[in-house]
Amino acid sequence: MPPPTNNTKLETAEQYINSLRGRDLTVYLFGEKVAEPVDHPMIRPSVNAVAETFRLAERNPELATAISPFTGEPVNRFLHVATSTADLVNQNKMQRRLGQLTGTCFQRCVGMDAFNALYSVTYEIDEKHGTAYHGRFKAFLTDMQRHNYVIGGAMTDVKGDRSLPPHQQADPDLYVRITKRTDEGVYITGAKAHQTGCINSHYMVVMPTLRLGENDHDYAIVGAVPVDATGITYIYGRQSCDTRSMEGGTIDSGNLNFGGQEAMVIFDNVFIPNSLIFMDGEYQFAAMLVERFTGYHRRSYVCKSGVGDVLIGAAATAAEYNGAEKASHIKDKLVEMTHLNETIYATGVAASYQGHETKSGAFLADDMLANVCKHHVTKMPYEIGRLAQDLAGGLMVTMPSEQDYRHAEIGPLLDKYLRGRADIPTESRMRILRLIENMTLGRNAVGYLTESMHGAGSPQAQRIQIRRQMQLSFKKELAQALAGIIDLDVRAKLETELEDYYGRVFKTAKGL
Ligand code: SF4
Ligand code: FE
Repeated sequence: MPPPTNNTKLETAEQYINSLRGRDLTVYLFGEKVAEPVDHPMIRPSVNAVAETFRLAERNPELATAISPFTGEPVNRFLHVATSTADLVNQNKMQRRLGQLTGTCFQRCVGMDAFNALYSVTYEIDEKHGTAYHGRFKAFLTDMQRHNYVIGGAMTDVKGDRSLPPHQQADPDLYVRITKRTDEGVYITGAKAHQTGCINSHYMVVMPTLRLGENDHDYAIVGAVPVDATGITYIYGRQSCDTRSMEGGTIDSGNLNFGGQEAMVIFDNVFIPNSLIFMDGEYQFAAMLVERFTGYHRRSYVCKSGVGDVLIGAAATAAEYNGAEKASHIKDKLVEMTHLNETIYATGVAASYQGHETKSGAFLADDMLANVCKHHVTKMPYEIGRLAQDLAGGLMVTMPSEQDYRHAEIGPLLDKYLRGRADIPTESRMRILRLIENMTLGRNAVGYLTESMHGAGSPQAQRIQIRRQMQLSFKKELAQALAGIIDLDVRAKLETELEDYYGRVFKTAKGL
C-alpha cells in the first residue's frame, strides 16, 4: 500500500485519536481479537499519551513544532529532521516536558530517531552504491509531515540464539527478512519484539537490529509499512497491574489517563513497495544505521527526567500528607532524587549540544555522551524509585482497594484510619500513594524502570560503546608524560589527537 495521497492533515489530538479508529488491525489481547483498540480501557491510556504530543504542539508550538525544510510549514517536532544542535536540544526539552505531562512513555521518539538516522544513512548508502534511497526517503518523510502522521520504529528482532547471526538461526524468521522480491517491491516475514506505540502509529519503519554480514543480505531491509498492512498481527504486551484500568473507579490505576504501549509485531509476507524501501541488501550499512539510531535514541531517554520530575513531586507530596516534609532526612532524600534526575537530563542535553553535522546535513548527537546518558538511565531511576518508596511508606503496597474505600460500611472506617494530616482528605493521600505505586511497581514502572534498563539497548550495549570511544592509550600517554615516564609534548599531542576526537565539539563551540 503506497502512502495515502489525500490531503488530510491531523491537526488536533481528537483528530489523531479518530484517525486510529476503524482500521482493520489484527490486535490480540487476553487471547481475543480486539474490536477497536482505541476504545479498549487497557489500551486507551497509551493512545492518550501519544495524543498529548499533538496537544503540546498546539499549546507550545515553539517547543513541539519546527519548520520543515521540505514543506516549508510547521510540523510536529517528532517528524522533523534535526539540522542544528538547537534542533537536537529542543527534542530533549520537548521530551522532558512530555514526561512531565504524562508520567509515562509517550512512544514517539523511536520514530523520530529512526527518521533522523535514516536521513543521513540513506544519503551515505546512495553515495557508495549509486542507489536512490535518500530521495525516496525524503518523499516519504514529506508525505508523513503533510499528514502529520505518527511513525513507529520497528527495530528489535526476537533474535533466537544470541550466539548465531541471522542466517545461521535454526529458524530463519527469527530476524525479519525478505522472503520474496518482485518488480513492485519485497515481501518480509519475521517478528519485532516489544514495539513501543506500534498500534498507535500510522506507519512503521522496519529496520535491522544489529550489524550484518554478507550472508545476511536478505536481512538488510529497511522499509515503511502502514500499520494496517495485510499480513501483520499484533500481540499486546501485558504490563504490571494493567487490568486495574478495567476495574472502573479512578484511584487504583494510579495514573488514570496515561500509559505506555508495547506489542509483539508479527509480519507474515508483508509487502513493501519499491517507493517505501530505503535499504535492500546493503548489509554493510546496517551497523551504521543501528549506531546512528542509538546515538539519537540513547539521549532521547531524557524523557525519564520528565517522568522523574513527577515521581519527585509525588514523593514530596506523600511526605507532606504524612506531616513529615520538614524532617531533614526527607529534604535530603528529595535533593538526592533531584540530583540523580538532573544528571540524566544533563548528559542527554549535553549529547545534543555537542552534536555534529553529517554529510546529509542532518545533525547527529554526540555518541559518547548519548551512551553515558542512557547508561545513567539504566541505574538512576531505580534509585529515585527506591527513595520515592522510602518516602511513601509501606501503605503504598498494603492499602485496600477503591471499592473498599467506597463501601458504605467499611469506607468510613478507611477514611478515618488512613488519614495522615487532618487537613488532607484521605482520598488525596490514597491517590498520591497509588501514583507512586504505578510508577515504581505498576503499569508505568514498565516505562520508568525496566524500559529504562533495556530500551535503546541494555546496559552492556552502552558499555561497549563507551569502551570503544574512551581513548585509553591517549589518556595513558597523558599520565605517563606528566609523570616523566615518557617524553611527550603533551600540548602538541592535544592539538592533534584531542582535536581529532573532539574536533566537532570545538567546531560547534566556535559556531562553525
Ligand atoms: Fe520516548 Fe522515552 Fe518512550 Fe523511548 S521510553 S519512546 S525515549 S518516551
Ligand atoms: Fe524505547
